[in-house]
Amino acid sequence: MVWVVLMLGKLKILIVEDEARIARFVQLELRHEGFDTSTESNGRLALERILKEKFDLVLLDIMLPELDGMEICRRVRQSSNVPIIMLTAKDDVSDKVQGLDIGANDYLTKPFAMAELLARIRATLRDTNHN
Ligand code: CA
Repeated sequence: MVWVVLMLGKLKILIVEDEARIARFVQLELRHEGFDTSTESNGRLALERILKEKFDLVLLDIMLPELDGMEICRRVRQSSNVPIIMLTAKDDVSDKVQGLDIGANDYLTKPFAMAELLARIRATLRDTNHN
């Protein structure tokens, strides 16, 4: 990760999460890892920001006010390939399959270990040939 940060400056990650405690915890950890982070708790506003602002990766909760993560992912994919990792309390296999089918790059079930989230972020950025 260090060389990527040196070459590109801070990578921007949007954390879409309506549970304030989780959003804050994830944000603190990602900042500690050197990422530039923003948070958004409302689904509709999150969609607008993803389409308007240039993020390097989006962490996307599924259960959100106004617009759920599945719908956000579906709409984002109509015009953007921004890497998306879905974060959700649901652990039903059909939800994982649906999330991946509509274009999420990866999927992580809450509660998750921060080390695993960081590893998946690194892997997703690597896999998507970030440049
Ligand atoms: Ca939620």
